[in-house]
Amino acid sequence: MAQFQSFEARVLRTVPLSEFTKHIELGVSGVAHFGFAPGQWLSVKATTPDGEEMTRAYSIASPPSENSHFAFCLNRVQDGYMSNYLCNLDTGAQIAFQGPFGNFILHPPARDTVFIATGTGIAPLRSMLHWLLAEPDRHQERQFWLLFGARREQDIYYREEFETLAAKHANFHFLPTLSRPEADWNGRRGYVQEHLPEIVGNRTDMHAYICGLAKMVKANRDFLKNLGWDRSSIRYERYD
Ligand SMILES: Cc1cc2nc3c(=O)[nH]c(=O)nc-3n(C[C@H](O)[C@H](O)[C@H](O)COP(=O)(O)OP(=O)(O)OC[C@H]3O[C@@H](n4cnc5c(N)ncnc54)[C@H](O)[C@@H]3O)c2cc1C
Repeated sequence: MAQFQSFEARVLRTVPLSEFTKHIELGVSGVAHFGFAPGQWLSVKATTPDGEEMTRAYSIASPPSENSHFAFCLNRVQDGYMSNYLCNLDTGAQIAFQGPFGNFILHPPARDTVFIATGTGIAPLRSMLHWLLAEPDRHQERQFWLLFGARREQDIYYREEFETLAAKHANFHFLPTLSRPEADWNGRRGYVQEHLPEIVGNRTDMHAYICGLAKMVKANRDFLKNLGWDRSSIRYERYD
C-alpha cells in the first residue's frame, strides 16, 4: 500500500463560528509551503486516552496560500472523539495529519456553477470560491451561486465574509437558506434543494459542487440527474 507523507501542524488561531462550530487556522511545521487543491481534505490522526489510534477526514476550509497555512471548519459531534479533540485545541497545540487527499476539486472548463453546502460542508466550497474569485482568469466572469443551508441565522458560518465577497463580485451570489428560522428572518427558508430550481431552471450546461451529509447530497444530486444533468457535471463530497 502507498505510504503517504505525515505532517505536523500548530494551531495559530481559533475563531468560534457558532456554539458548536469553530474555524481553526494552522501552520504546517517544517515546510515553507504546503500545497493542495481547493476542495481537498486531510486525514487527522490522534490517540485517545485509552490508547486507541484514530483518523478522521477534514476538508481544508481555506484557499491555497504561498506559505504553510491552512484552516479547518469544525463541528462538535455529540459523543464523537476527534471533532471534540480538535475543537478543544488552544493556540500553539500540535496535530498530526496525512494528505492532502481527494478528488472533490474544481474541474475545468469554467462554467456557471452552483455550490451547495449545509453546515461544515461549507469548508471545501469556501476554499474553492476564494481561490476562484481571487483572479479573473480563474473565474472568467462565470456566474457562481453559493446555496448554503443552516438551521438558524446564527449558524450561517462566514456570513459577513460571503456577503463582502458578493458585494465585490457581481458574478457571485450568496444565498443562505434556513430550515428553522426565527419569525423575523426575511431570507430564504427550507432546505437547499428547494431553492435549486430558481438557480438552474431547465439548464443542464452548468457545474454543481455539493458537500455535506449524505441525505442532503442525495436530494440535490437526484434533482439535477432528473433534470438531465450529466453525472460528471455533479461533483460531491459526503461527510457521513
Ligand atoms: C471527506 C470528509 C471531509 C470531512 N470534512 C469535515 C469538515 O471539514 N468539518 C467537520 O466538522 N467534519 C468533517 N468531516 C466529518 C469528520 O470526518 C468526522 O466524521 C466528524 O468530525 C465526527 O468524528 P468524531 O470522531 O468526533 O465522531 P465519531 O465517533 O466518528 O462519530 C460519532 C457519531 O456521530 C455520527 N457522525 C459522524 N460524523 C457526523 C457529522 N459530520 N455530523 C453528524 N453526525 C456525525 C456518527 O455516525 C456516530 O454515530 C468530513 C468527513 C469526510 C468523509
